[in-house]
Amino acid sequence: MFFKMEHCDVYYGQIQALYDINVEINPGEIISIIGANGAGKTTLMKSIMGLVPAKNGKIVWQDEEIQAKKTHHIVKRGISYVPEGREIFPGMTVLENMEMGAYTLRMSAKEKADKLNEMYELFPRLYERKKQKAGTLSGGEQQMVAIARGLMLSPKLLMMDEPSLGLAPLVVRDIFSIIQEINKQGVTILLIEQNANMALKIADVGYVLETGRITLTGSGKDLLSNDAVRAAYLGA
Ligand code: ATP
Repeated sequence: MFFKMEHCDVYYGQIQALYDINVEINPGEIISIIGANGAGKTTLMKSIMGLVPAKNGKIVWQDEEIQAKKTHHIVKRGISYVPEGREIFPGMTVLENMEMGAYTLRMSAKEKADKLNEMYELFPRLYERKKQKAGTLSGGEQQMVAIARGLMLSPKLLMMDEPSLGLAPLVVRDIFSIIQEINKQGVTILLIEQNANMALKIADVGYVLETGRITLTGSGKDLLSNDAVRAAYLGA
């Protein structure tokens, strides 16, 4: 089993944020989870990362149950998380930010250099700006730094929380084509987005999350033409 979340409930103290979540991911897919503000999208990713524990149910990742595992274990097993709002270190350079991504794996200098070169191939802009303080970059460039930092871990599953947030439409298009390129290189993608249109266009499978529950699932294409999805999320 590549990835499966089964009957998971997630709480913040007494307050339940997610109810009976079931998500399945096959290797090589792009999965998009769409939903309004506060629906529980970020909570879902945090529960996979072990940052907020799933109370019931199980999360299986590459044949191992990870619902009770520590975050660093999950990261080492190949799941990487690019958080909402990017959370890069603004006072550190682009290069230093990317190096921070590799920290958990304690890579050798050679492994780190190879990985950095791979990142610069994917993001030539980051090579040009590697000595610049990350806080001085544009929003799109900062998002690239956050993605590159996540990729430094050579994840098999890359989870991205609202990568398009706050970016201009043209930049959003760039970010989405980078996501597709990363996927073509063999990384499975779990994406959460309020930009439902773009997220479903590139998705093999989509899920709709509403007030903590998955209410609809289908191929990205089917969800794009679904009347309820169009009315609620695509402004149709
Ligand atoms: P957004 O796009 O605004 O991040 P979201 O779909 O990611 O929305 P979550 O951030 O997962 O939604 O929030 C889901 C629910 O859990 C919301 O009702 C929110 O208020 C609540 N919640 C989130 N974080 C906490 C927390 N640390 N403590 C208590 N409740 C929380």
